[in-house]
This record gives sequence, structure tokens and C-alpha cells, in this order.
Amino acid sequence: MHVKILLQITADDGVSGCVEEIASLDKSIERAEDLGLSISQSKALLAAAQQRIVEAQTTSWTEGRRCCEVCTRRRRSKGSYPIIFHTLFGDVRLSSPRFHRCPCQEGSGKATVSPLAQLIPDHVAPERLYLETRWASLVSYVAAGDLLADILPITAGVNATTVRRHVLRVAERTEAELPKDRCSFMPGSPLDWEALPVPNGRIVVGLDGGYVRDWNERKSNFEVIVGRSMPDPEDGAPRYLGFVHGYDRKPKRRLVDMLESQGLQANQDITFLTDGGEEIRSLTERISPCSEHVLDWFHITMRITVLGQFAKGVAQYDEEAGARLTTELARIKWKLWHGNTTEAQDVIEDFEGDLFGLETDYPNLRKFVATAREFGVYIASNAASLINYGERYRSGERISSAFVEATVNAVVSKRFAKKQQMQWSPRGAHLLLQTRTRTLDGTLRSTFERWFPGLANDNTGCAVQGEAA
Ligand SMILES: [Zn+2]
Repeated sequence: MHVKILLQITADDGVSGCVEEIASLDKSIERAEDLGLSISQSKALLAAAQQRIVEAQTTSWTEGRRCCEVCTRRRRSKGSYPIIFHTLFGDVRLSSPRFHRCPCQEGSGKATVSPLAQLIPDHVAPERLYLETRWASLVSYVAAGDLLADILPITAGVNATTVRRHVLRVAERTEAELPKDRCSFMPGSPLDWEALPVPNGRIVVGLDGGYVRDWNERKSNFEVIVGRSMPDPEDGAPRYLGFVHGYDRKPKRRLVDMLESQGLQANQDITFLTDGGEEIRSLTERISPCSEHVLDWFHITMRITVLGQFAKGVAQYDEEAGARLTTELARIKWKLWHGNTTEAQDVIEDFEGDLFGLETDYPNLRKFVATAREFGVYIASNAASLINYGERYRSGERISSAFVEATVNAVVSKRFAKKQQMQWSPRGAHLLLQTRTRTLDGTLRSTFERWFPGLANDNTGCAVQGEAA
């Protein structure tokens, strides 16, 4: 069977245009795989149609800008130069005409005008930029390039390097939109706050760190801070945050920006859950008058669990002492859970004393003592950030940033994983974090639609014959 596919293009005047054959296929009907278009046929078809449609559009665009805007005289041609416009449906080869500046504009600006350079200054179609960014935020640059090439007529030009360059360009654009950082974002006076509408509920933000392997210094890592912000009631969409610690110059602004996108106002209750690290804690300070910093329960229990393992070790050498230490740890946990911070610290002190006076052959005793000491300091220095976890838990509020731990895994580990043999520069990781967090929380698309408003109504003026209603 022979199939011929025609393309008809008609200009806005309804007259000029062309009908052209873009594909001619001989199809046999022997096997299932003979039916319909094959992937390579569909690619060839799409690429041929795209080439001609874009050619017709850009010719029309250029023609419309041929005459001088001031005196309407036709500009003289000064030849053209070839450009490649990277689209999802192939790399379109175009010739970009150059016109001499109109004599009436003598002495102003450039000597020549290239209309196409205004239309496609960076030679990439926004949709291609979007999909490259989205996929490379989820999988490696190489895999993203392969994915695109698998199903779309993209052969030359799609490789990890191009994809990476495009994605970093997108990330840099989002970075440029973020205003400068300030040390305080505290708004107006309390009198102004009272006039504000009652906010919807508490925003809970979990912040935690993860590590990414450094490209420059193979053996070392740098720290990535990741956050997840959840508005309450939960119908509001959560947002992600990520940046490279020490590299990012606007961490606080970034956090405020995320909160503002969720309706942050001065009388908004915010709970910041962190592991109590000094750097992360200072990030949460002076952001809102109604915010609190809470040491997250997950990190407390992790430390108690480690101490419990040491106590079990002791029990192998001194059963009674091991049991006693285990009981004391349970009491510490109980006190902390119920927000009895002072009493908890007393028990920790007793526990340390007990441990210090211990005479046993347990080989890890010194390590045990040091870990217990460290835990005491940890609780003491975060005493102001301890709450009645039990009560909050019973009232259905979040007390643990286990969800942040999951966020670190989701944002960092899966894309920046050490086992992928990927190594990162702080800049590359930081920029990719910007597109990755937007991809994960679904805001990448709206960012693109803000930049390229036409993407928001990409289905208008489209009627496909035979398509189900
Ligand atoms: Zn003129």
C-alpha cells in the first residue's frame, strides 16, 4: 500500500501558500509491526512538517519586518546567515535575513537589522527547553538526552552537553529573578499585622542537609540544604527548596520567596523543623514574627537510638549496668517527648554521671561517653527549641522532619547519588537543584508559562480531523 502525506500551508491573507508532499511511504501488511507509522517514520514526518511550518512562519515574520518602522521604506537586503533552531520536532535549518539600516536612521544603532534574532534570540524553542529541563531534573543529562532522541526527531545536537547547557541557562534565569538577600525580612509594625486577614493555618517547613560529591576535590563532599514547606490545611501544594551551602548568596531570600508563594504574611504561624544545626537555624531567624524553631523529633530519637545500641553493648559485659542505662534512656526519651526539658536534662546529667563511673571491659566505652556528652550538649544548646511533642502529635501536628529526610532522599540522593558515579561542581549542583525542586513540586511549568505566555494556551487554534470529541 502506498501512503502520501501532504502539507498545506495558507498565509493569513487566505491566498498565498503551498501544498507539498512531505512523505511517501510504502507499507506492507504482513505483521503487526507493519501497521501504521513506525517510530522512524513518525520522526521523519514530524521533522519534515516542522521544517516547512517554521520556515513559512519565519519567512512571514521577516517579511513583516522588512520595512522601516519610521518611514515605511523597504530596507535593502544584506544577505542572510544560516541558523539552527532547536525544536522538539527536529533541528530546523533556517536562513536569517539581514537588512541594511534605513537611511532615515543614519547614525543610530547597528548598521544592519536581523528580524529573526528578535524572535528566537537563543535558537531554542521554549517547549524543547522545558522538556529538556524537566527530564534532566529527574534523570541524568545523558539519560534525558537519550529519552528525547528515543521518541522525537532529534538526532544531532542532543547530547548530554547540550542538554546540560540548556538546563543551566534555565536555572540561571530563575536565579536572576530572585532579588537580593537581606538579613531580616521582618515586616512593618505589629499594628499593621493586626489589620491582616486571619491566615489559613500553620506552615510547617522542614530543613535538613545532605552531601554531594565534589568534582574538583574528588575525596570531599559539599553540603546541600534541602527544605520542604507544607501549608496547612493540606490542600495547599507543598514546595521544595534546595541550595548549595556556602555557594548560595541568597539562602534566606530563597526561603522567604518559597513561603510567600504559599501566602506568607506577617501574622502567619510558621514552624521550622530542623536538626538544630547552627547554620540552618540561623536561616530561620528573623523571617516572620510568628515563627518558631523546633528541634525535630526524628533527629532526637536517632541520637537516642545510637546511645541505646551502646547500652546494649555494655549489657554484654555488665548486664545490670546495661539494663540500668537502657531504662535511663527510656526516661530521657519520655521526658523529652512530653516537653519536660529541665527534667530531661537532669536525667541526662545522671545518665552521664552513671556512665562516667562505670567500670567495665566494654571496648567502646570511651566512644559511648563521648556520644552521651555530645547528646547532652545538643539538647542543652537546643533547649529553647524543644516542645511538648506528645501534645502536638496528639493534636495531629507535624513534629518530625522524617518528611524532610524523605525530601533529602527525593531531592538529593536520587539525582546526585554517589552510586551514579556523578560528581558535581557546587555551581552545577546548585543550579540543577533549582530546576529539580521546581520539577518535583510542579512549579517548573508555571515558571515557563510566565516566561513564554504562549505555552499556556498551546492547544488553541488546533482542530485535528477525526479526533474523538
Ligand atoms: Zn526609515
